[in-house]
Amino acid sequence: MGIKKNLKKLLNSIPKEITLVAVSKTKPISDIFVAYESGQRIFGENKVQELEMKHTKLPSDIKWHVIGHLQSNKVKYIAPFISLIQAVDSLKLLKEINRRAKQNNRIINCLLQVHIASERTKFGFEINEINEILDESNKLENICIKGLMGMATFTEEKSQLNSEFTKINNLFKKIKNKKINTLSIGMSGDYELAINNGSTMIRIGSTIFGNRK
Ligand SMILES: *Cc1c(COP(=O)(O)O)cnc(C)c1O
Repeated sequence: MGIKKNLKKLLNSIPKEITLVAVSKTKPISDIFVAYESGQRIFGENKVQELEMKHTKLPSDIKWHVIGHLQSNKVKYIAPFISLIQAVDSLKLLKEINRRAKQNNRIINCLLQVHIASERTKFGFEINEINEILDESNKLENICIKGLMGMATFTEEKSQLNSEFTKINNLFKKIKNKKINTLSIGMSGDYELAINNGSTMIRIGSTIFGNRK
């Protein structure tokens, strides 16, 4: 199936209030443009260099999200235009985002990544660290924490996925307010479960663009 059809089918299958981030990492400009022409405006990338290049070549009304681990020394390249930094996983990174946002005279929206997977390799804060980070971030004038982001374990075990999503959703419910309104959980393999567990934003790559090499 083509990108247009995939996108339409996906959008028809999820509630309207869910925000769809089309994950276009590794995919060519031409594929992103097809999705853009179908009306998609939010795209997610995980490599800064690729993101910068795509941002330059594609229409300026696209909202770009960084969805993967971001190194502090790369923040400066995306600070002028990034719409949401989804995977903030350290206070050091948060402070650097604040500094670069200030230089660019803007406020940068961020999500705090929460470590919910059983794999050790996945980045993110532990659940009991979040309150402290929120307190710290209140002192940073040029960032706005919009919510939480999580990546579940790479498994098809539904009970495990459910319990990981429940964990982050319970935390989200505790900290939720007017400003903190985004829970980014759910990818191609698990977005239905994520939506059942309170997701407000899903990040979908292969279901739209096909498998990556
Ligand atoms: C690649 C990626 C996705 C999308 O994965 P699919 O399984 O292709 O939908 C979502 N979130 C993050 C953080 C990713 O790196």
